[in-house]
Amino acid sequence: MEKFLVPDRMFDTVFEITPDFLKAHGVFALLCDIDNTLSPYEDAVPDAAVCNWIAKMRESGVEIALISNNSEARVATYNKDLHLAAFADAHKPSVTVYRQASAALGVPLKKCAVLGDQLLTDALAAWRLKIPAFIVPPIKDKTTLFFRAKRAVEVPFIRAYKRQNQR
Ligand SMILES: [Mg+2]
Repeated sequence: MEKFLVPDRMFDTVFEITPDFLKAHGVFALLCDIDNTLSPYEDAVPDAAVCNWIAKMRESGVEIALISNNSEARVATYNKDLHLAAFADAHKPSVTVYRQASAALGVPLKKCAVLGDQLLTDALAAWRLKIPAFIVPPIKDKTTLFFRAKRAVEVPFIRAYKRQNQR
């Protein structure tokens, strides 16, 4: 299977991702999904662990922008104390907002990576931009039929990733 939709790297949680790992891969900015990547949908604001992880990244010279398909209200509330560059209604996998985020951070796209939980939005955008897709499993998935259908589409790509990374 081609690289299309196959994550470049999977992590169990975002906390496994360190500034050293990113810099070793030439990544100086994370273009980061919110819902089910950093926090579950029902958490209006990031918890202390997420705030600390973000602070550590930024202290180490890794910039972070929030890129969400969720509403302006959701993103503004979530970002209230983080003060990150943040983009709502992003229409991922559209790449327009990722380009804006890269410019806002002052980090060229080739030094950026996407961090998210969904292959059809986050990983697809990364593939279109030719930058790495770092994927975590959704923190707490919705159980609607629509969401289950989307996850079913992801299964072969996750399997391809696991096959490629077995050895
Ligand atoms: Mg998400």
